Amino acid sequence: MTAALEQAWFVAAMVKATTDMWEKGWDERNGGNVSLRLLPEDLEGFGDLPAKRTVPLSTSMPELAGQAFIVTGTGKYFRNVQLDPETNLGVVRVSLDGQSLDILWGYSDGGGPTSELPAHFRSHISRQIRSNGRDRVVMHCHATNLIALTYMLELSDANITRALWEGSTECLVVFPDGVATMPWITPGTDEIGAETARALARRPLVLWPFHGVFGVGKTLDEAFGLIDTAEKSAEILVKVLSMGGPRQSMTTDNLTDLAARFAVTPCAEAMELAGWRLANA
Ligand code: 13P
Ligand code: ZN
Repeated sequence: MTAALEQAWFVAAMVKATTDMWEKGWDERNGGNVSLRLLPEDLEGFGDLPAKRTVPLSTSMPELAGQAFIVTGTGKYFRNVQLDPETNLGVVRVSLDGQSLDILWGYSDGGGPTSELPAHFRSHISRQIRSNGRDRVVMHCHATNLIALTYMLELSDANITRALWEGSTECLVVFPDGVATMPWITPGTDEIGAETARALARRPLVLWPFHGVFGVGKTLDEAFGLIDTAEKSAEILVKVLSMGGPRQSMTTDNLTDLAARFAVTPCAEAMELAGWRLANA
């Protein structure tokens, strides 16, 4: 007997992740989107899963041919995923020629995957290369304090990384490769997808100025934890800036000691800075 896909672990995991993200205040209205790559063994026991529908991809993705993903739906509210996973989520598989997407389950009201699919798919490609296939999750949300900082900090990878490392002691240990940033680009385009994937090839987090953040990981927990840690640090920095700015902070020596104790190699550009800077300061 074949099991119902709605009972799969990955549906429950996506419900948990999107519900937690909503409760964190990161995903107003339809803000945010999440994709998790499924392995062949994840889909075993659910029968043949023929395509319910096929939709074209905006650019062909031969690197992802045959790969399956569970992806949040476009226009869907994260607060509703727990009420109706089969409408708000979908399981898709990239066709063997990389030109189209088979919808195997979900989007049951006739909807489709997130408008940020180009950014998700290109990011999966770059993280599969960077992590030797270990990374399976791409997560986008509108984390409030990270967005707020993009109005204040000088927008360079090194400066943003240094600020977030100094904002909370555990940050350098959680993201030693740092945080990337990029110019503002229209959401939902192939262009923002390409730039995001380039950024995620060098770091596990990228800030979209005045919009949100993309984070990656091996699991939903890891991607969530990464964004949560950066957002906590951003919240502290927002409070510090609101109190008139820091009077003291962690030093480069402190960061060096931290890296040695936890055996991580922090990105050199951020270590070389003496501190962090506001934009146009
Ligand atoms: P979707 O509803 O298409 O996922 O878009 C939400 C969003 O956050 C766009 O950046
Ligand atoms: Zn967004």
